[in-house]
Amino acid sequence: MAYAPFNLSGKVALVTGGNRGIGLGMAKAMAQAGADIVIWGSNPERNLAAEQTLTALGVRVKAQTVDVSDEAQVREGMEEAVAAMGRVDSVFANAGIGYGSPSFVDMSTEVYRKVLAVNLDGVFFTLREACRHMVERAKAGDPGGSLVGVASLAAIEGAARNEAYAATKGAVISMIKSVAVEHARYGVRANAILPGWIATDMTAGAQGNAAFAEKVIPRVPARRWGEPEDFGGMAVYLASDASSYHSGTTLVIDGGYSIF
Ligand code: NDP
Repeated sequence: MAYAPFNLSGKVALVTGGNRGIGLGMAKAMAQAGADIVIWGSNPERNLAAEQTLTALGVRVKAQTVDVSDEAQVREGMEEAVAAMGRVDSVFANAGIGYGSPSFVDMSTEVYRKVLAVNLDGVFFTLREACRHMVERAKAGDPGGSLVGVASLAAIEGAARNEAYAATKGAVISMIKSVAVEHARYGVRANAILPGWIATDMTAGAQGNAAFAEKVIPRVPARRWGEPEDFGGMAVYLASDASSYHSGTTLVIDGGYSIF
C-alpha cells in the first residue's frame, strides 16, 4: 500500500512562473501526484503550452496570465483561481528574473528596480493574497496550507555582479520566516527553496559558456547541472500532508554545491 500523505488528490497547487523551468518541473510532479494545478506566467503562449502539458497528466489545470509585479493582477488572479478551483492549498512563489550587470558600479537603477519588482514585490503580492485566502478559509473552519518561496543560493553566498538579485532572494527567505510564524495558528506553513545551478532558460548564457563548464560545474559534487525535474519531489512533499509540521526552513537543492 502506498504511503498516503504523498497523494495530492483533492488538493490545488498554484505555481507562479509555472509555464517553464523549475516552476513547470514542480507543477508536473504535483500533477502526477494527483493535485489540480494553477499556473501563472506573463506570456500567454507559454502558459497555453504548459497548460496542455499538464492537462495531459489527467488533472484539472488553470493557466492565468498574471504579471506578479502588478498588485491588481495578483489580487484578481488569486480571486479567480480560488473561484475556479474551489480552493488553493499550496502556493509556490517561484516566478523570477535574473538580471545581472558587468559590475556592481555599472548596475543601473533601472535594472535594480526591475529585479525588485518581479522577485520581491511579486513574492510579497503573491504570498499576501495566498495568506488572505488561507486565513479566511481557516476562520471558516478549514485550516491548512503550504507556502513556498523560491529563493536562491545567491541569498546566502556572495553572488558577484548580482547584488540586486541576491538582495531579493535574501528578502524572500526573511519574508517566508515571518509568514511562517504569523500563520502557524491557521495551520499554514511556509518554507523557502534555494536552488543551485539549474539548467533552465534563466541560465542559458552560463550553459553555453566554456569557462563556466570548466570551472563551475566540476565543483558541483553531483557533477552535473540540476534539472527542473529535480524539484518535483520537494514540491510534492511541501504540498502534501507529509510536511504538516515542517515550517520556516530553507531547503537547498544544489547537488551539494554549497557545502563543497
Ligand atoms: P525561467 O527563466 O526558466 O522561468 C521563469 C519563470 O518565471 C517563467 O515561467 C516566467 O514566465 C515567469 N515569470 C518571469 N517574470 C514574471 C512576471 N513578471 N510575472 C509572472 N511570471 C513571470 O527561470 P527558472 O525556472 O530558472 O527560475 C525559477 C525560479 O528559481 C526563479 O525565482 C529563479 O530566481 C530561481 N532560481 C533559479 C536558478 C537557476 O539556476 N535556474 C538558481 C536559483 C534560483 P513568463 O515568461 O510567462 O513570464
